[in-house]
Amino acid sequence: MHGDGPNALARAIGLLGDEWTLLLVRAALDGATRYSQFQAVLPISHAVLSQRLETLVSEGLMDRRQYQEHPPRSEYRLAPRGWSLWPVLIAIWSWERRMASTDPIRTPPMRHRVCGQEMTPSYRCRHCGQPVDARHLHVVWGPSGGWQRTVPGATTRRRSATSGAKVFYPSTMAVLGNRWSAAIVGAAFRGIRRFSDYQDVLGCPPSVLAERLTSLCEHDVLEPVASSDRADWSEYRLTRKGRALFPVIDMVVDWAQRWYVSDEGPVLERMHLVCGAPFRGELVCDQCGVGLHGPDIEVGEPD
Ligand SMILES: [Zn+2]
Ligand SMILES: [Zn+2]
Repeated sequence: MHGDGPNALARAIGLLGDEWTLLLVRAALDGATRYSQFQAVLPISHAVLSQRLETLVSEGLMDRRQYQEHPPRSEYRLAPRGWSLWPVLIAIWSWERRMASTDPIRTPPMRHRVCGQEMTPSYRCRHCGQPVDARHLHVVWGPSGGWQRTVPGATTRRRSATSGAKVFYPSTMAVLGNRWSAAIVGAAFRGIRRFSDYQDVLGCPPSVLAERLTSLCEHDVLEPVASSDRADWSEYRLTRKGRALFPVIDMVVDWAQRWYVSDEGPVLERMHLVCGAPFRGELVCDQCGVGLHGPDIEVGEPD
C-alpha cells in the first residue's frame, strides 16, 4: 500500500475504537482463554462474542487452537500483537480512573507487585527518563502520515447495540469509538483549533464535525474558547482532561507503528525536546519509579 489508503494509525484506531475488542483483550490479559470464560466476565451476546473473537484472530491479536473435537471447542490466546496492548489498556484505565467519574468497579485500583504499592502509572521518555507530556514532543508526519490517511475508514462491522449494553470506558469510547472524534482529538494535539481548520485538514463534513465537537465538549475533552481573531468564531482546545489523554494516544501510536509496519516508513516521527532523542514513552510506577511490565500489575479490589 503506497501513497494512499489508511495508514497504520488509522488501522489501529479502527480496531481499538471498538469497546468489545478492548474488553476482550483485557479479559485475555486476566487469563480468560475459553469462550465460556469470556462470557462469564463480560455482558456480551453470543453473536457479538463470536464475531469479535473472529476479528481478533484475523487481525493477529489472538491465536485460536482447538482443544476438543466432539463437540469442537477452541481456546483463544493472545498473540504478541494482542499481548502488547497492555500498556494501552493500563493508560486507558489510568485516564478513566483519574479523569472520568466512572464506576470504580470498572476501574479498580492497581497494585505494582514490585513495590507492593497501589499505584498510578506516569509516563516518561525511555531515553532520558524524564516525565513527558504532549508539549515536550516535536511531532512531524512521517512518509505514511497525512491527515486524510490517518482518519480510520468507515466501519462495516457490527456495532454493539448501545441499548442495554454497558459502557465500561465511556470517556475513552467518546474519543476512540468514533473515527472522526479520534481524528479531531489527534488534530487538537497537533495544535488545530479553528472549526474551519479541522474541516480543512480532516476533510470532515461540517455537520458531522459540529456534532463531534459538541460531543467532545460534552465529555470535557475539548472546550470552546472565543477566537483571538474574531469575536463570532469559536475555537476548540483540549481541556485538562483532554491533555491527560496524551499517554493513551501516544501508546496507540506506538503500538500501531510497531505492529502495522509500512514499507513507506512511519506515520509520525516524534522527538523529545528535552533530550533530543527520537521519542518512545514508557509507563512507570509513580510509587517506586520502576518501569511497568504487564505481569507486575495486579488488579485490586474496587474502592
Ligand atoms: Zn528524552
Ligand atoms: Zn512500584
